[in-house]
Amino acid sequence: MLAIFFFIGVVPLFISTVVLINTYEDKAVNNRVAELQNQGKLLSTMLLPTGYLTKGDIPELDVQISRTSEMYSGRILVVNNNLKIIKDTYSLEDGRYLVSAEVLQTFRGTNSRIINKENQSIKITTPITDSSTNEIKGVIVMNCSTRDIYNIRNNLENRATIFAVTLVILVMVFAIYLSGKLTKPLTNVVNSIDRLSEGYLEEGVSIKGFNEVEKISDSFNHMISRMQKLESSRQEFVSNVSHELKTPITSIKVLSDSLLMQEDAPVELYREFLTDIAEEIEREDKIITDLLSLVKLDKKAGDLNIVSININELLEQILKRLSPIAKKQNIELIYESFRPVIAEVDEVKLSLAINNLIENAIKYNIEEGWVRVSLNADHKYFFIKVADSGIGIPEDEQDSIFERFYRVDKARSRETGGTGLGLAITRNVIQMHRGAIRVYSKEGEGTTFNVRIPLNYIS
Ligand code: ADP
Repeated sequence: MLAIFFFIGVVPLFISTVVLINTYEDKAVNNRVAELQNQGKLLSTMLLPTGYLTKGDIPELDVQISRTSEMYSGRILVVNNNLKIIKDTYSLEDGRYLVSAEVLQTFRGTNSRIINKENQSIKITTPITDSSTNEIKGVIVMNCSTRDIYNIRNNLENRATIFAVTLVILVMVFAIYLSGKLTKPLTNVVNSIDRLSEGYLEEGVSIKGFNEVEKISDSFNHMISRMQKLESSRQEFVSNVSHELKTPITSIKVLSDSLLMQEDAPVELYREFLTDIAEEIEREDKIITDLLSLVKLDKKAGDLNIVSININELLEQILKRLSPIAKKQNIELIYESFRPVIAEVDEVKLSLAINNLIENAIKYNIEEGWVRVSLNADHKYFFIKVADSGIGIPEDEQDSIFERFYRVDKARSRETGGTGLGLAITRNVIQMHRGAIRVYSKEGEGTTFNVRIPLNYIS
């Protein structure tokens, strides 16, 4: 983040400053050259008609040349066509000869200009041309300082450096502050996730500030609360399972202990107690079977073995299988089918689910009651309705009956061999088929379970 701030904030500024300063230098030097060229031309037009180049010594012109050289803090040499120096504003070389490449070039028609950055000076030559004959009569050599331009440039550079350093410090401070502020919530989330993986499920995170991070924290808290629910439901399930599995074992232990304690127990007593023990073992076996089916169902829906089957036949088979139990309690089993239904389902699992519903309708019924199973379908779903004339379910408990091990009347459920897992299994199977189950019940009047399942399996 620091690097990003640096590259976005400081580097472009640095580049633009360097470009600006260099542009200033080029422009100022070029202006100076142009000015000197103008001055040179001006002097040449003044000198030509006066015969200065042959005689020299015209005080007004000397003054004019000296003034110009002072103006540009430089030196002006006037050379005639014999290469003799007519005027040197430094008065060092008057009367001598100047044989330099620039002067010779100028006589040949090429003006020269030399910009010397190191010495901070400009040297330009201007020909003194007789316009009537186009003859070059002499050359003005101007050697001027550009120190003032470089002074300004250095000044600008110093200021820009101070500005850049201040800006870098400010950007760094701001970047450190901002990156701290931005990453702190993320660090909090990371710490919380670490705590979570160490097993501290109860802790959440509370972050105020940046929207996105707030959202992460919300989703994270949501995930934690889901995990907490799962964890407590897992714990409850484990404790329920242990309790349910222990109950028959405790009974078996009590029964066998009491037999062992009696030295001469009659055979009838043995028989009676062993019958009870066998019942408890059977119950234990049923709980384990139910638990295993439930655990299997908890796996993914991908484990379904989907085939196209005739639902009417499936229901008839289940009813046939259950009719002996119904007969025992004088309960009438009625089957209504409104149309033939072929659907894509897992036959074994659906059969188990519907079996549980009909078995419950028989178990929680009254003497000489009835159970009505009906089957209907539309273009998308098939509907199974299991209605009974039984004891009903209190309204406030209707939501709970699908929970594992939930039983309205423990004693009755136990009497009828219930484990409290039947409806949990049923609901699981129906949901795996992307279906739905609803219960309508009135205490003392009866119960109706409505099941809706898609005709074609939706994966
Ligand atoms: P169980 O093995 O106890 O029957 P279930 O999960 O099948 O467990 O049912 C849960 C509870 O819902 C039962 O104990 C019973 O109290 C109630 N219940 C289920 N079906 C009916 C019904 N048709 N009529 C009345 N009560 C029912």
